[in-house]
Amino acid sequence: MKTDIQIAQEAKLLKISEIAKKLNLTEDEYEVYGKYKAKLELSLLKKLENKKNGKLVLVTAITPTPAGEGKSTVTVGLTQALNKIGKNSMAALREPSLGPVFGMKGGATGGGYSQVVPMEDINLHFTGDFHAIGVAHNLISAAIDNHLTQGNTLGIDITKISWKRVVDMNDRALRNIVIGLGGKVNGIPRESSFQITVASEIMATLCLSNSLMELKEKIGNITFGYNYKNEPLYVKDLKITGAVTALLKDAIKPNLVQTLENTPVLIHGGPFANIAHGCNSLIATKLALKLSDYTITEAGFAADLGAEKFLDIKCPQGGLNPNGIIVVATIRALKHHGGAKELTTENLEALNKGFANLDKHVENMKKYNVPVLVAINKFTSDTEAEIKLVETHCKEIDAPVALCDVWAKGGEGGIDLANLLLNTLDQNTDNFTPLYSFDLPLKEKIEKIAKEIYGAKGVEFTLKAKKSIEQFENLGYKNYPICMSKTQKSISDKANLLGRPTDFIVNIDEVKLASGAGFIIAMAGGIIDMPGLPKIPAAENIDIDENGIISGLF
Ligand code: ADP
Repeated sequence: MKTDIQIAQEAKLLKISEIAKKLNLTEDEYEVYGKYKAKLELSLLKKLENKKNGKLVLVTAITPTPAGEGKSTVTVGLTQALNKIGKNSMAALREPSLGPVFGMKGGATGGGYSQVVPMEDINLHFTGDFHAIGVAHNLISAAIDNHLTQGNTLGIDITKISWKRVVDMNDRALRNIVIGLGGKVNGIPRESSFQITVASEIMATLCLSNSLMELKEKIGNITFGYNYKNEPLYVKDLKITGAVTALLKDAIKPNLVQTLENTPVLIHGGPFANIAHGCNSLIATKLALKLSDYTITEAGFAADLGAEKFLDIKCPQGGLNPNGIIVVATIRALKHHGGAKELTTENLEALNKGFANLDKHVENMKKYNVPVLVAINKFTSDTEAEIKLVETHCKEIDAPVALCDVWAKGGEGGIDLANLLLNTLDQNTDNFTPLYSFDLPLKEKIEKIAKEIYGAKGVEFTLKAKKSIEQFENLGYKNYPICMSKTQKSISDKANLLGRPTDFIVNIDEVKLASGAGFIIAMAGGIIDMPGLPKIPAAENIDIDENGIISGLF
């Protein structure tokens, strides 16, 4: 069997100008980055302002195994399928982070015959957006430490600096560090920390901004720490808002690439869904809605994380109206939730037990008043009997279902799903309603997510978390939405609880203010924002030969 990278390297790519032509773009409306990548000009948003939006469809998933259950693969495959049956569809995806590329999961450009290409470029550096975001973030860090050294006129309390440094790498040794050692000229010694770039507030802010000027305003409003009176200090206090934004002048523009079947895709921004809000940029989604009739987008991890944040943060903040939700399920993950250890042999009993996980996610998604479909992402190890059982079960829970074989067959394997979706969208009226109203108190919003989405019986807040909530509400941030930071391995905040956990309490250790991105982060279950590498990292399989051909990138 060919690997993802072998399939991608055999693909016949069109020049990116040909892809831009399919979208009716003029040469002034995009800037090419080599032969197969381009950045779209933001002026397009203005030009297309009065054009009717296409339909917006979110692809999410059941609680995944560590390998991922194929949201990107299904997103790409479905957009290929829609184009195959004559519909004008684009995918809007996130950019991969180098953390998973070299860590455990590998790249994030889909798989098999449903990939975005050039996959090596997209997975490694791409158009430099993450670099720019990292440097913009670290400029703020450098300015904070310089301010301390230069006399600290703002009265920054060094025990209350919340702004860290970032690098796009899984590097556990950077979780807790001491900086400023070596005497007076080398800075003020203090404890600090690194986050992975995808957890940076600059990443979230860029992804939730509608324009360069809005990004600038939001960057100025980022809280980096507190003064001795415990009052918040903002990036604008450091007088570097313009410089930070200048570093992002190209990163804010969406990247245009193509699928293996030469259909257009926008890939832009990439916050993780367990430690950030998990969706591609608002600008890319909005452009895709103008440039195509059907935008297929994904949000990270399972529906309790990425989808909840897509529906409760991104859509309300961006005025987006989702028209359909597809929950991707795999038979291997369902069996995993049903307690099976061996996932590639038939096990109807475990599969039956595992349905509880799918049921909870489908119920959750139905709360948003958007039609919900299930896509079974077919693996070669799935048996006829297993597939039949999932189909029957979906009928019982009133969830339209389609078998999706886009990994093995590309767009052709997604035609059933595409037709099912079109059928559903035809009957849909715009009824989308977020889970909570922004004007609820912060604590109630957190409780609503924990109880209604995770199924918790209650929430316990540490004293520190309670104090922060009180402080943020007093500062005027009561109306912010909540970005939960929690494990992706369970619907609950306890990684080992599989299936559909019940009778558990969600523990909120810490609550943080993201006054640039515009949300409150609730940290559940001791989640960390700098992952580590596994014992045998994916990096050990990656290689390059004398012709510059890369292998091992999945
Ligand atoms: P997610 O977006 O949910 O994290 P991906 O689409 O990135 O998942 O897929 C994760 C990995 O699983 C990729 O390496 C992909 O090639 C592989 N994969 C996805 N679907 C299938 C399938 N149906 N059969 C075999 N491998 C698959």
